Amino acid sequence: MKLDHSFAEELTSLASEVKPIKLLNSHLVAFNHELANELGLPIQWQEEALLFAALYSQEGTLNQRPIAQKYGGHQFGHWNPELGDGRGLLLAETCDQYNNRWDLHLKGAGPTPYSRFADGRAVLRSTIREYLASEALHYLGIPTSRALCLITSDEPVYREKQERAAKMIRVCQSHLRFGHFEYFFHSKQPQKLQSLFDYCFKYHFAECAQSAHPYQAMFEKIVQDTAKLIAKWQAFGFNHGVMNTDNMSIHGITFDYGPYAFLDDFEPTFICNHSDPQGRYSFDSQPGIGLWNLNALAQSFTPYLEIEQIKQVLNSYEATLLKEYSTLMHHKLGLIASDKNRETNSNLINTWLEMLAAERKDYSVAFRQLCEFDILGGNQKLREQFINRDRFDKWAKQYAFALQNQGTIQTQRQTQMYQYNPHVVLRNYLAQQVIDQAEEGNFEMFHQFIAALKKPYQEIKEYQKFSAPPPDWGKKLEISCSS
Ligand code: AMP
Ligand code: MG
Repeated sequence: MKLDHSFAEELTSLASEVKPIKLLNSHLVAFNHELANELGLPIQWQEEALLFAALYSQEGTLNQRPIAQKYGGHQFGHWNPELGDGRGLLLAETCDQYNNRWDLHLKGAGPTPYSRFADGRAVLRSTIREYLASEALHYLGIPTSRALCLITSDEPVYREKQERAAKMIRVCQSHLRFGHFEYFFHSKQPQKLQSLFDYCFKYHFAECAQSAHPYQAMFEKIVQDTAKLIAKWQAFGFNHGVMNTDNMSIHGITFDYGPYAFLDDFEPTFICNHSDPQGRYSFDSQPGIGLWNLNALAQSFTPYLEIEQIKQVLNSYEATLLKEYSTLMHHKLGLIASDKNRETNSNLINTWLEMLAAERKDYSVAFRQLCEFDILGGNQKLREQFINRDRFDKWAKQYAFALQNQGTIQTQRQTQMYQYNPHVVLRNYLAQQVIDQAEEGNFEMFHQFIAALKKPYQEIKEYQKFSAPPPDWGKKLEISCSS
């Protein structure tokens, strides 16, 4: 394995060298073997002593040129030039067998020049939440950063109460955020903006660089990838919670997990972020905010593209998102799209969602139950879930008719639906139980949940507890933004 430092070497004005600080009584408690294998990373890192030597010793392979990155970002709609990695370090880049580049980034590494008044630490609670979420989304087929390992410690950190510091190594194509581009644009540094684009064309958008209009192609790619990502969030019921432009990856992946949530009861206007009373980043605002963020990023392309070109690319966002969303919802309902049934199917999908919203049905449970729908009738179990049975009956009749018309074999349709409607869902109340145990030093449930999240569509007896909807106390847990 060869480690690279292209960002540190070529984007020097965005990089400050900082060494990671070892925490009190550190322990490696989780190591992602699948990910290490996929990327061809040294499997020896699963040994705590060897990983710590790589991270902290002078000659350690991960300690040769760690850097904190500078960026800015629009936070809740307001431009903030003062952001950067306040507690994260890009340790190195590695290339996998397909020559794809991956960042190895240590979150919770210690203070950096961008920490401002904060402590440079990450708490165990938020680190566990990020680890769980990145595994959950990955195995649902939603693009995301990944977690390579989790390191605990006895180092006290202070949030609303005293907590323990932890670290994780995060892996993704790059840590380039919309906010990197915005930073150079708004601080009026056109040459540096140019060098950032050059870097992207060299390492991450090489195909776009080959095209007749590289900047347009790159912007198109980001717009398309972002649209498809957010369509997936909407279909699987994921609320990110803090879609500031510094948390938006140019690779269209889910990034910088904070107070996120998978929906329990279906409430389209659900807000997972306790610090967002206005609901700027509520569940159903996400598609619109994605476009808002792309508009913010578009500014940085204005030196290279005409306004009309930019508008044209931005105009493709909605259609791409809706197409992806519609495809996924068809799969979730076992419907097959054709030119003739476009309107009928979209009415069926929308009415189903309205029924769930009207009666606040558990989003994932309802879809999973729908997999058992019988076109010949007798869907008592599902029917009894709804108070408005007349509405259900009317809808069920139309649904059965549509399924019959498309001519799929019932069992095949059901099997296919099971592949799109997860049984195991990363619910906040379960994450909280994992955290409560981990804070007592017990990681058994953490490991079990990770194993269950790797097979979200399967009903495995041993993992049954991870498919239950929340009890009342577990609904709408207030997830603190502090991390
Ligand atoms: P986040 O809300 O995690 O996306 O972070 C927003 C900004 O605050 C980024 O610039 C972070 O690097 C910084 N930040 C968040 N938490 C800390 C912390 N504990 N210490 C230093 N910087 C932090
Ligand atoms: Mg962030």
